Amino acid sequence: MTIAHRRAPGRCPRLRLVLLSALLIGGALPGCVPVATHADRVALPLFDAHTHLNGDMTAETLIEWMDRAGVRKMALMPRHYSDDGRATDEQAAAYAAKYPDRFVAFIGGQRGDLWNSRAWTTDSHFLSQAEAKLRTGRYGGLGEFILHHYGYNRLVPTTHQHISGDIELPADSPLMFEIADLAARFDVPVVLHAEAESQTAAQMRRLLERSPRTRIVWAHNCGRGPAAQVAAFLRAHPNLMCDLGQMAVPLVNPYGYGTGWPAGRSRHISIVQYRGGDVASDMRDLFEAFPDRFTIGTDTAHPFQYPRYGDVIEGFRVLLSKLQPETARRIGSDNAERLFGTRDPRTKHGVRPGLATSG
Ligand SMILES: [Zn+2]
Repeated sequence: MTIAHRRAPGRCPRLRLVLLSALLIGGALPGCVPVATHADRVALPLFDAHTHLNGDMTAETLIEWMDRAGVRKMALMPRHYSDDGRATDEQAAAYAAKYPDRFVAFIGGQRGDLWNSRAWTTDSHFLSQAEAKLRTGRYGGLGEFILHHYGYNRLVPTTHQHISGDIELPADSPLMFEIADLAARFDVPVVLHAEAESQTAAQMRRLLERSPRTRIVWAHNCGRGPAAQVAAFLRAHPNLMCDLGQMAVPLVNPYGYGTGWPAGRSRHISIVQYRGGDVASDMRDLFEAFPDRFTIGTDTAHPFQYPRYGDVIEGFRVLLSKLQPETARRIGSDNAERLFGTRDPRTKHGVRPGLATSG
């Protein structure tokens, strides 16, 4: 199918910035990158299925970002950490109650008490609190649970420079199993961050095998694994979705998980989108083969990222431009609608609660 393009509004006027950043960081020169008609903000209002909530984010500010970038809805995962997080689950629930068409509230998994490995083998109190909150019907998901994570605190202006942020917790722990069971009982998805290196991938396999009724979203393109590994997981586990949280590469001053960081510490990390906008051919084939199994997300988690929201969304629009229009629509919007059981009346794939069925 022929893919029509038009120049992305707001992209070309920034050409001077793009040139400057290319000179400064030696990156590819993307030039004035076109967004396909099927992926622009008119044709495709997006669902940002992986974003975080900090205490200093107001609902109205978030809506301002979304409206400017052409984002219709956002999943809010509260960061309870005492750094620049300081959000609460109740804050997310209040935003979703006030603007039900714009937000899905999560019960946050980023909490200081879950940094302790003992919390994952003994009763952490998290479960009973989460169950009580789910009973209110105000929450649409659980997570993001940070299990295997490369810390970046000292590389960016976060407030907790005294800790690395490295985390290594098993994905097949007793608490993770119970969280999966709880999510299945309330039919809400669980979002996990787990870099898909061999040991973690084996743990994820055990979690998925024992929790076939839990909708598990494995963040960052299913742990940034290679396309063949992601495909094998998706084939074996119909209850698995991959979110592309921060896997698109902003054209201006590229940063984030999608750039392959930290290449010096791990060799397993695969690239979805190159600097300059092109999509890796094996990843493009993966998305076309499993069009119902991916969602997008900006992964906006720290104040230094707030001004970059539109840039990350623009990166996703360039990524979606490289896909068939129907695939782009599903990944950019419809799959998240189905995942969270919400409906976009404009699309025929607007609602289909339950597990993914294709791919
Ligand atoms: Zn993550």
